[in-house]
Formats: sequence, structure tokens, C-alpha cells
Amino acid sequence: MKKPIAGFSKLSKSEKIEWIATNYTQNPAQSKKILETYWNADSQLQQLHDEFIENTISNFYMPMGIAPNFLINDKLYAIPMAIEESSVVAAASKAAKFWGSRGGFKTKVIGTEKVGQVHFIFKGNYSKMESFFIKIRSRLISDAKHLTDSMEKRGGGISQIELRDKTNDLEGYYQLHCTFETQDAMGANFINSCLEQFAATLKTEALTYSGFSEQEKQIEVVMSILSNYVPNCLVKAEVSCPIDQLNISKEISPKDFAEKMVRAVEIAKVEPYRAVTHNKGIMNGIDAVVLATGNDFRAIEAGAHAYAAKSGTYGSLTHAKIEGGIFHFWIEIPLALGTVGGLTKLHPLVKLNLEILQNPSAKELMQIMAVAGLAQNFAAVSSLVTTGIQKGHMKMHLMNILNQHAATEQEKEALVEHFKTHMVTHRGVLNALENLRK
Ligand code: NDP
Repeated sequence: MKKPIAGFSKLSKSEKIEWIATNYTQNPAQSKKILETYWNADSQLQQLHDEFIENTISNFYMPMGIAPNFLINDKLYAIPMAIEESSVVAAASKAAKFWGSRGGFKTKVIGTEKVGQVHFIFKGNYSKMESFFIKIRSRLISDAKHLTDSMEKRGGGISQIELRDKTNDLEGYYQLHCTFETQDAMGANFINSCLEQFAATLKTEALTYSGFSEQEKQIEVVMSILSNYVPNCLVKAEVSCPIDQLNISKEISPKDFAEKMVRAVEIAKVEPYRAVTHNKGIMNGIDAVVLATGNDFRAIEAGAHAYAAKSGTYGSLTHAKIEGGIFHFWIEIPLALGTVGGLTKLHPLVKLNLEILQNPSAKELMQIMAVAGLAQNFAAVSSLVTTGIQKGHMKMHLMNILNQHAATEQEKEALVEHFKTHMVTHRGVLNALENLRK
């Protein structure tokens, strides 16, 4: 029977490891060894990693790959991707090569607006709150001046503060719906600090506002927090070419391929079961770059899926059409990213990855990431409508299976050759390996 522990966070790192290995693993000595194997040999670097989060006992490694040859607005990029799933980097690279010789990717940032809200309860009617809000609006902004000064110097800051009446949804519920420009930062800390200041001003000013009754003066601030739903922090990436250039394989004509691609996207627009997987494929590309550049993949995921459901029905984040003999394929996705702040200047690999990406601004990074998502989706949907996804995927998976079963270099070589002409299945690989070892 396991027992809870008090004061775990106060233990030293080796005490934490001792406790977890002894209480939760079968072979504590081996477990400790595994955890230590993944420590960084440079103790200063390890300490840096230890301090990113709480209760650190080791580092969790993920492979980092490069997808080269991305031509974006006529500039060439090699994109670093951190991801555990096989075939994602290969698919991105393949799509980059394909579109590189067809004009490349064209991108445009549509907006960079970030959002935050102060949620509060007011025991009075809207018109009273509105009069109060109009009176204190400039005060809300001036009280936050100490927070916004340097952001304003960069061309950012608070864009708008709007009072929203939400009493139809919840009794007494109002909000300050605020928008911000945060330049090269994702902006979570800047926005949250501004919001907490707005909340403090709101409460204080209400206490002395003569238009309120004693009860109305007691505004209850429930919470002040940024929103990860940023439909106006939006980027578009597109590829297009004459249909006859879509010579993707000998098995399908360019025209049939283009029509099938459009049909596949149409299905993902109307069928949520398909749309979720379609968008998951897009996020394979985007998340890998989000991670490699030290951005917050939970924030990006939440915002992307909310955007995919903005019409009330969950649908595809990519779009396709054929117009005047030209095939167009594009993505529109909200991406609130930073190239400063968070881990971006702290994690050595993140710094290096940003350098590989030619030190982009947040706006440039939005465009690179949207391209990674579009490329991924193009590769996935083209496989789906032609050979099917498993052929390529299982080939890549072959290595994982062989590694799982400790195949030697010679065995790998022989089996890679064998599976050039045989279908890869988990059982099939094991059988072939057993035969080889007989
Ligand atoms: P930081 O607070 O670490 O850094 C941003 C700050 O850097 C800015 O506020 C600004 O401060 C300064 N800065 C310097 N140069 C620039 C520039 N060129 N453009 C803009 N700002 C600049 O990071 P963020 O506020 O961006 O927060 C990101 C982190 O927050 C992520 O790690 C995320 O995981 C986390 N987070 C996410 C939440 C969510 O998504 N819901 C909630 C809470 C945290 P100054 O103006 O003072 O110089």
C-alpha cells in the first residue's frame, strides 16, 4: 500500500529520486540509473534545466530533426522540429521539396491581437456599470502605465478595453474584454499583469463611485487572465500551382489528384471525426516547431482547436480549391508566439533553433509555423488520397520496432532490404527478425 509523502518539494534531488525509485518502481537501482543517464554531463546546464520546473529529477529527451528546403516568400529555411512521431519530419521535408519547385509557400500575417479578460460580478444593472466604466476607462489605462511603458516604446501595449455584459449567460457576470499587442513576446505575463492591474483599479474606483449603492460598490473580481483563444492573431500560408504540375505519382493523374485533395478537405470541413484527425496532422508539423522554439504547445493547441470550431461546428483548418486551372491549398490558423520571453532565451537548443530559423520576429515565426502545418497536411492528405498512410508510416515505424527488439546493425540492414518488397506489420517484422536469428 502506497503512502502519501509530505514535503516532497523540500527534499534534495537525490532524495526525491531515492523516494520515487523505492516507492514506485520494481528495480530502484536500475530506475535511478535510467534517471541519471539522462542528466546533462555539464552540471551548470543541468541546473538550468532543473530550474525550468519544479521537482525535477531528470530530463525527458525528444528527438530533434531538421526539415530543409522550405521556400517561404522566396526565402529559404531549414526548419527544426522536436517530435517523437516517426514520418513527420520526412513528410514535411517531402512537401517542402515538392512545393519548392512550384513557387514555394506564400504567407501573410493577418493580425497579431492578443486577448485577456477580467471576469467580475456586479450586483447592479448594465447601464450603471456602463456609466462607471466610461468614467474609469482612462484611469484603467493610466494606472497600468508602469507596466505598459516599455511595450509601448516597442510599438505595442493595450489596444482596447471593452465592457461586456454577460448577464444573459450568468447572473451578475460582466467582463472587461481587453486586447493587446505584445510584439515579439507571446505576452502571457505582460497581459496577466495588466489585467490584474485593471482588476485592482476596477475594485478601488467602485468603492468611491457615487453612482453605486453600497452593495453595488462591492465588485467581486472572480479572475483576471489572458485567453488562449486569439482568433485575430492569425496567419495565412498558401501554396498554389497549375493543376498539370501536380504530378505527384504515376498512379494518379494531376487532375484526379487535385480533385481528390479538394474532396478530402471538403470532407474534413463537414465531418468532425475526420476534421479532428486532419487537424491533428496539421499540429504534427506545428507542435514540433512550437517545441523546438520553446513556445507553449498547450496554448497553441487550445487556440487552434477553438478556432477550428469557431463556426459552431468543428472543421478543417486548411482549405483547398481549384480555380481557373490552378490548385490552391492554404491554412489560416491563430498562433500566439514569442521569440523573446519564456524559455526562448534560456534553453540552449531553443536559442540555436531560433538562430537556424534566422532569428525570426514573432510575426516571421508565425509564418514559418503555419507553413510547417500546411506542409504536413499536404503530405498527409496526399498520402491518404493516393497510397494510404500506412505504407510510408510503417516503413518509418520499422526502425522503431527493430530498435525495440535490439536488432543489430546487420539485422537492420537485412530487414530494411526485406521490407522494401514486403508489407511492414508489427507481427511481420518480429517474424522476419526471428527467422533471421534462427
Ligand atoms: P516573458 O514574461 O518571459 O517575456 C516577455 C517580456 O519580455 C515582455 O513582457 C517584455 O517585458 C520583454 N520584451 C523584451 N523584448 C521584447 C520584444 N521585442 N517584444 C516584446 N516583449 C519584449 O514571456 P511572456 O509574457 O511572453 O510569457 C510566455 C510564457 O508564459 C510562456 O512560457 C508560457 O508557457 C507562459 N504562460 C502561459 C499562459 C497561458 O498560455 N495561458 C499563462 C501563464 C504563463 P518589458 O516590456 O517589461 O520589457
